[in-house]
Amino acid sequence: MKKYRLVLSEDTFLWIKNHEGLVYQSKKYRAFVFSLSEKLSEICSHLFVLEHLYTIDLTEKELKNSDVRHFVDQLIEIDAGRLIPNTSTKKGTVSLMPVLKIHEEISDYIKKHKRGVGGNIIEHIHELTFYLNGSKYGNDLYYRQTIFPTKHESVLETEKIIRFIRNSKNPFLFNINLVGNIFSFPYFEELLHHIETFEIPVTICITGSDAFENKDLLKKNDWRKFRIIADKKDNIERTIAFFEEIGISFSVDFIIFSEQDYLDVEKFSTTMDGNFVPMCNGENIEFFESNIFISEKEILSSALSKRQIFQRQATNVNHFGKLTILPDGNVYADANQTSLGTIGDTVYSIVYREFTEGKSWFRVRNFTPCKDCIYQWLCPSPSNYETVIGRSNLCCVKP
Ligand code: SF4
Repeated sequence: MKKYRLVLSEDTFLWIKNHEGLVYQSKKYRAFVFSLSEKLSEICSHLFVLEHLYTIDLTEKELKNSDVRHFVDQLIEIDAGRLIPNTSTKKGTVSLMPVLKIHEEISDYIKKHKRGVGGNIIEHIHELTFYLNGSKYGNDLYYRQTIFPTKHESVLETEKIIRFIRNSKNPFLFNINLVGNIFSFPYFEELLHHIETFEIPVTICITGSDAFENKDLLKKNDWRKFRIIADKKDNIERTIAFFEEIGISFSVDFIIFSEQDYLDVEKFSTTMDGNFVPMCNGENIEFFESNIFISEKEILSSALSKRQIFQRQATNVNHFGKLTILPDGNVYADANQTSLGTIGDTVYSIVYREFTEGKSWFRVRNFTPCKDCIYQWLCPSPSNYETVIGRSNLCCVKP
């Protein structure tokens, strides 16, 4: 009887959960979902064994099984595999299943730390966000979802900020955010001047309301790039016009609570650097369900590369490499989790704590219901929205 060898390509991911399977070709960004019949389950189990080099021999009779034939045809159709006739010994008829090996790296750091040589762990810091102080326009629910000033009454100390940046400095630290009402922060100019000496880009994040109230102060200064948080619809247009007029570089975060909010600000986004930032206020869950929850179609068209999938399997893409320091000096990998220490602690001890005990940088979809879902590694990393809304997933697949 004629024999064939089925070889999956090295860019192909194959996942099975319960009675379903998913094949994803990460170079062509194509995928298909299949039901797991007994025969297909047997074939997939064979393919999952590393020593089988992502191949399985199939007889002509097996290929006449309609489930198997359909599965093989779909694999070929999306370039996820090849069916080679009579080639048990020919070269090139094997492959390698894409497998992630990050955990070796984490345990490596722990071993190095125990030997007192864990210095390069700092290189995982990519972005620092300092909440310098609070603002009367701040909101203690919103800052848990995106960069948005708090209502805190405490104020960070300039020397501590500078020391923290100095000790975090590494070639991969690409941005420092300064958040709050900078107009009431003592010695803001001096702080900026100090930070400038580190040669790391700085973004000043303020609400449109604080900016608008302090127009005269802004005019007199040549501050760096601004990220304007458009907290109130009624002053967006005037704030944008003002920033354009004085020639300061800026982008705008349009805060969106509803579909109407989106329609109201959509016109501005075509002419400027702007982001739409959905915001949960506790009363607009329907807006999230209809517009933010991800659908099966969106997941399958997310066009992720092999590298991006590995990233999602190993790290939380939203949080990894970021540290947030609140006005009271507490340091977080993500403001919804417990503090990793304070601004007075060593940066090394903070990053090491996140590596070994943290719940943010490595928070991946390995919990219910995602761990039992075929889309587990195609879905975006868990976000702050999930924590604030109090759900473990934001999708229409397993609502
Ligand atoms: S969020 Fe979770 S449950 Fe929903 S589709 Fe993604 S992996 Fe599946």
